Amino acid sequence: MIRIIVAVCFLALPLLSRAQSVFPVRDDGEARNRTYHVVHYKIEVSFDEKKKSVIGKTQVTLVPFLSEFKNIELDAEQLDIHSVTLGLGKPARYEVEPKMLVVHLDKPYSYGDTITVAVEYSCTPKKGLYFTQPDSGYPDKHWQIWSQGEDMDNHFWFPCYDYPNDKATSELIATVRKNYTVLSNGELVSVKENKKDSTKTFFWRENKPHSSYLITIAAGDYAILHDKAGKLPLQYYVFRDDTVDARMCFRQTPDMVKFFNEKIGYSYPWEKYAQVLITDFIEGGMENTSATSLLDWATVYDARQRLDNTPTGLIAHELAHQWWGDVVTCKDWRHLWLNESFASYFDPLYHEYWLGEDEFQMMMLNDQLAGVHVDTAVGRKPIVSVGSYGTNVYPRGAAVPSSIISQSINSPRSRQTI
Ligand SMILES: [Zn+2]
Repeated sequence: MIRIIVAVCFLALPLLSRAQSVFPVRDDGEARNRTYHVVHYKIEVSFDEKKKSVIGKTQVTLVPFLSEFKNIELDAEQLDIHSVTLGLGKPARYEVEPKMLVVHLDKPYSYGDTITVAVEYSCTPKKGLYFTQPDSGYPDKHWQIWSQGEDMDNHFWFPCYDYPNDKATSELIATVRKNYTVLSNGELVSVKENKKDSTKTFFWRENKPHSSYLITIAAGDYAILHDKAGKLPLQYYVFRDDTVDARMCFRQTPDMVKFFNEKIGYSYPWEKYAQVLITDFIEGGMENTSATSLLDWATVYDARQRLDNTPTGLIAHELAHQWWGDVVTCKDWRHLWLNESFASYFDPLYHEYWLGEDEFQMMMLNDQLAGVHVDTAVGRKPIVSVGSYGTNVYPRGAAVPSSIISQSINSPRSRQTI
C-alpha cells in the first residue's frame, strides 16, 4: 500500500487532514491466535447502489486446529446476518457479537475434519467497501464500487478471518449492472449476462492461497487495455475518456515485471497482473493480489503533466508488493513495516535500473530525510510494537519539510511518497 503524503506543498494540508480522518492509528495490530485455518472463501455479492448496500453470501471452508472444535469465530462487523448453514445446508445456531460472528457447530470437530459454513447477509459498509457516485458538486464523477481491505476492513463486507497470518484460495462472484466490468483476484472464469434484470455476473477465482485483506473487487464502466510481460497477461482498467494518457502512464509495467523477476529471482506468481483506476480512492495504491487499485489522479497524467510528473514510483511500489506482501506476508500488522520497506526499496531499485545511480541515491536520501523528520516530529517509537505500526509506517500528521519537497521537485519522481 502507498499513501500519498505530499504532492506539492499547497496540496499538503488538505491531503493530510483527509488521511487523518480516514486512518486513525489502531491499537489492535496483533493477530489473534488461530483456532482454524481457512482453506477457501467463496464470496457472492450483488449491490443496491442507491442504498450503497451489499447483498452477500459467503461460504468459508476451514480446517480446525483444535481436537475439540465447537465454535467458528469469524470476523464480521455491522453485517445483518440472515442465515448461517453448515455443510449441505443444515441450519446452525449463531451469535452476533460486535466484531464477530460465532457459529455453534452441531458437534465437536477435530484436526482431520473439513467444515464448510455459509453465511447469508446484507450490509451497508462504513469501510472496507465503497461506492463512488456523481453528485451535484461533481456530476461527471464515474460510478464505481470498490474495496480496500488493508489492514482489517474486509470483514465489514464479508465474514472472514481478517488477519494476515492465514492464507486461502478465493472466489468472488459479483453481479453488477450490465455496463460494468468487475475486476478481482486471479483468473476470470466466466461472465454471464442476466437479460431478465439487465445485469452481468463476473466469476473470478484466485487459485493460490493469499491473505484475506488482499481480496478485492473493483467495478465500473471501464475500458480494458491489454499488455504482456513475457507470457504474463497485463490489464489496465481505465476510464473510457482517458485511454491514450492511461496507456502512456502504464507503459513501463512490462519492463518493471521483467526487472523484478530477475532482481528478486522468483518470477511473478499470480495468474495475471491488472491495475485499476479508482476515483476517490482512500489510498495512493493497494496491492490486492494480481489486481492493484490505484488512485486515478496520482496515476494518469496528461501530456503537459507528464513533463513534471511520472507515476512510475507508485506503479513500481505496488507491483513490488505482489512479492513483498502478497507472496511473503507479514505475520500481523506490527510487522507491516516489512511489507512497506521492501516495496519502498524495490521502487528505487527499478529507478536505478531505469535512470541510473543518481536517481537511486536521491530517492533513498528523500526517504531517509522523511524518516528522520517523522522521528523528530511525531516522536520516537519502536518499529515493532502494537499501536505504533501505523505511526511509523504512515506518519499521519507529519508534514514533510519544505527542504525535502524542494529536493523532490528537482527529481524526476517529483511526487514525495512514503
Ligand atoms: Zn506499500
